[in-house]
Amino acid sequence: MSGRRPGRPRSGPSTEPAGAPAQPGGSRTRRPPPVWFFDLDNTLHDASHAIFQAINGRMTDYVERHLQVDREQANQLRLTYWRRYGATMLGLMRHHAVDPHHFLRETHDFDIAGLLRAERGLARLFARLPGRKVLLTNAPGAYADEILRALGLHRRVLARYAIEQMRLHRSFRPKPSRSMLRHMLARERVPRGAAILVEDSAANLRSARAVGFRTVLVFGHSRGPTHLRSGRQFGLRVRSVLELPRAHARLRG
Ligand SMILES: [Mg+2]
Repeated sequence: MSGRRPGRPRSGPSTEPAGAPAQPGGSRTRRPPPVWFFDLDNTLHDASHAIFQAINGRMTDYVERHLQVDREQANQLRLTYWRRYGATMLGLMRHHAVDPHHFLRETHDFDIAGLLRAERGLARLFARLPGRKVLLTNAPGAYADEILRALGLHRRVLARYAIEQMRLHRSFRPKPSRSMLRHMLARERVPRGAAILVEDSAANLRSARAVGFRTVLVFGHSRGPTHLRSGRQFGLRVRSVLELPRAHARLRG
């Protein structure tokens, strides 16, 4: 697994093995500086506004074309694989020997910046928020880079992990894979108790919490009832990441 990490500061000798929640500490226990793992879609921008629709349409086109099925069947397969494997790509690889890189290129080949909708102030937020920021997205790298640039965050994110980097033992292991999340903590040399995952997906947050991340649910961009059912189990719920500098102090776990 490899990620871009220009200029990442070296961890000091006090770094502890990652992978377990922080012990309940006494007043003298100091938590290390946070390492923020940010999801991308519906966390840092509103993908439900138009981008998801564009991607889903292209994925259905792709399935229709490559598997020679009708539109309805293609749409059903796309959804079935997404539900079963967490990513349509994984089902297409497993059952139809689809080339993942070709699939990712074709399905994200559109005017991304033109469809982007996001709040203002994200670059200021990243500058203000203490600690390292890492992007952790199940989306492809080229797509993630384009969005980071459009949001003015590309210089603020010290490491970026997209789906191409989420491989263990030569298999793709996107979120919510616990083994991948554990690997990520070790890969980034995150001190115990320092990792925070900021996400809109309850399933991803549950896995992260189980392997030692503190968790922040972002629900402002999500459509549907998921956030209403699942908010309480996480360390913090925010409508927008812009609330983090203030809300951070209330983060449990
Ligand atoms: Mg997301």
